[in-house]
Amino acid sequence: MRPAILYPLFAETRTLPGIGPKIEKLIARVAGTRLVDLVFDLPVGLIDRSYRPKVIEAESGRIATLAVNVLDHLPSRTPRLPYKVRCSDNTASLELVFFHAYEDHLKKQLPAGSKRIVSGRIERYRDKVQMPHPDYILAPEDAASLPLIEPVYGLTENLPAKSLAKAIRTALEKVPDMPEWLEPNFRRARGWPAFAEAIATAHAPKSEADLSALTPARQRLAYDELLANQLALLMIRARMRAVKKGRPVKGTGALRKKAIAALPFTLTKAQQAAIAEIDADMAKPARMLRLLQGDVGSGKTIVALLAMLSAVESGAQAALMAPTEILARQHFATLLPLAEAAGVRLALLTGRERGPARDETLRRVKAGELDILVGTHALFSEDVAFRDLALAVVDEQHRFGVHQRLSLQNKGELPADVLVMTATPIPRTLALTAYGDMDVSRLTGRPPGRKPVDTRLLSADRLDEVVAHLKKAIASGARAYWVCPLVEESEKSDLAAAEERAAMLNRVLGWKAGLAHGRMKGPERDAAMAAFRNGETRVLVATTVIEVGVDVPEATIMVVEHAERFGLAQLHQLRGRVGRGAGKSTCLLIYQGPLTETARARLKILRETEDGFVIAEEDLRLRGPGELLGKRQSGIPEFRLADLAVHAELLAAARDDARLVLERDPDLKSPRGEALRVLLYLFERDEAVRYLRAG
Ligand code: ADP
Ligand code: MG
Repeated sequence: MRPAILYPLFAETRTLPGIGPKIEKLIARVAGTRLVDLVFDLPVGLIDRSYRPKVIEAESGRIATLAVNVLDHLPSRTPRLPYKVRCSDNTASLELVFFHAYEDHLKKQLPAGSKRIVSGRIERYRDKVQMPHPDYILAPEDAASLPLIEPVYGLTENLPAKSLAKAIRTALEKVPDMPEWLEPNFRRARGWPAFAEAIATAHAPKSEADLSALTPARQRLAYDELLANQLALLMIRARMRAVKKGRPVKGTGALRKKAIAALPFTLTKAQQAAIAEIDADMAKPARMLRLLQGDVGSGKTIVALLAMLSAVESGAQAALMAPTEILARQHFATLLPLAEAAGVRLALLTGRERGPARDETLRRVKAGELDILVGTHALFSEDVAFRDLALAVVDEQHRFGVHQRLSLQNKGELPADVLVMTATPIPRTLALTAYGDMDVSRLTGRPPGRKPVDTRLLSADRLDEVVAHLKKAIASGARAYWVCPLVEESEKSDLAAAEERAAMLNRVLGWKAGLAHGRMKGPERDAAMAAFRNGETRVLVATTVIEVGVDVPEATIMVVEHAERFGLAQLHQLRGRVGRGAGKSTCLLIYQGPLTETARARLKILRETEDGFVIAEEDLRLRGPGELLGKRQSGIPEFRLADLAVHAELLAAARDDARLVLERDPDLKSPRGEALRVLLYLFERDEAVRYLRAG
């Protein structure tokens, strides 16, 4: 249960005075629905009101605070014209300009003949000095209440800056003095303030420098968030190991030898190194929790197979779980001949296997008459019982997340050793935040047998040229993917809709173009992919569903529209779909100009390298983690106070800190441990704490 000290922070924003349903919704869009979300919504800028010129010298465009006398009101003659209030000091006159004004209200605020302090942005219009919609209008005796420096927060349309700022100010008053969860010497050495002070300081910048992510206050907050993340992951790891004790698994090498002999290639150095790491892990009595990271096509499947064979050699069983039906079938087809060569019994189990065939598979798994089972998450449904499962390989492809692995865990029957494969090369820092519960093996270097892909950037004005080029290539037998960002008929944006594009290409190319998108039903999409694979259609127009998809070695052209809207990692994955066969491959990245400098730099990286790890590191550097893997679906934790592009050093420190804490106090029972529980709840890493109690 959440500690009582945090209750006020987890109250809904609507409980704050002055926040009705409308503002609540808008605030939810920029920050969240609870006070804690407001408290973690740090300022992105500041307004300095200390510029106090005379009216005559007030510079256009600047925020100024002016002392004036109110002369008279000039109501607008039509609703479309502004209401004006004329003022002056002894140097010049100033017009306050209001659109959609309430006359009564303004007359009260700015009575003719009174003195007022006004603060807002100056506009010079011809020879007039104006201030449209002053931010503050105060009587001279209230001048002290004018904030000379104000934090600026990220807004959304229709959300008044003042409402948000006020809500945040009120929320900040509710921040309690927390028990200190940082180690005192560490905190002192870093010169960091206590949590509550750090929050207050971060919300009260006095200069631009205070907005830096590297101030002591911001570093402390970032560290807190990273510490919660790392602590939770290590606790989950400990929990996974406690729930199911590992056992040493050691193969004889006999089956492996046969499978390797049947391979038409030799293993790369990276593959051998990964296998050695896996072998060493499996041989240990503790449970293996290992991540195998490598680009699409880097040869993870073979590594997984050899690990599974080791389990089979030891007399046990292994399972390989893929995220989709298509991939499960693809894995099965790849592995079957090798399994046969090694004399290993392999079967497929997905949601589509039903009836007597499924029953027979289940019977054989239970009786130990099957050695390896390949499938989707159906592998871990209630009625699937293995005789002796020693290793599960989970192919996550491009999805991530500790939550998925936990839900697997909760299905009950999890094997001793777990090997997770991911096809998105992610920077080390990100891997640590998403997979900190696992050890990592990387398959680096170019995927085996890949030809370099000729990558070009083209402006959307040249779409006609692209189509003409494509027409020629298709006529001489080439196959091409054409990727559009998304299909959303309700979206009123200029995204090229895949459906429309397919229709256009149908017309122009004189070849039927296939279509595959996320809104299609599974079988329909499979059919489109199959038609492309066997050459019935030579162009496949798709949304990014093909990322997690097919292997068609004959495809040599990849066209991506609106390339500027994709994450680099995504573009890299897409490009990885070509360059797999004998032919020379091309990747055409079509962008809608004008490109920002960063966008151009990002796209250029793709032209310069095909190493997924390099691309991922560069993308992190240029864009930050938030955008790296496309929005939220990636499963990479989103940090609110930490910025991994800047705080990587803190992440490493948090990792070490968390490890030490758990070594000394695995149940978080010491005073610091108790404080760390509060931290975990504050950053909503509750699932980890729940395990503490359950365990
Ligand atoms: P991943 O699962 O990492 O996406 P795969 O295991 O499917 O990649 O391998 C991609 C392709 O490379 C497959 O056709 C596979 O047979 C081939 N391959 C794997 N290892 C090697 C190697 N050492 N040398 C040459 N080709 C290889
Ligand atoms: Mg082991």
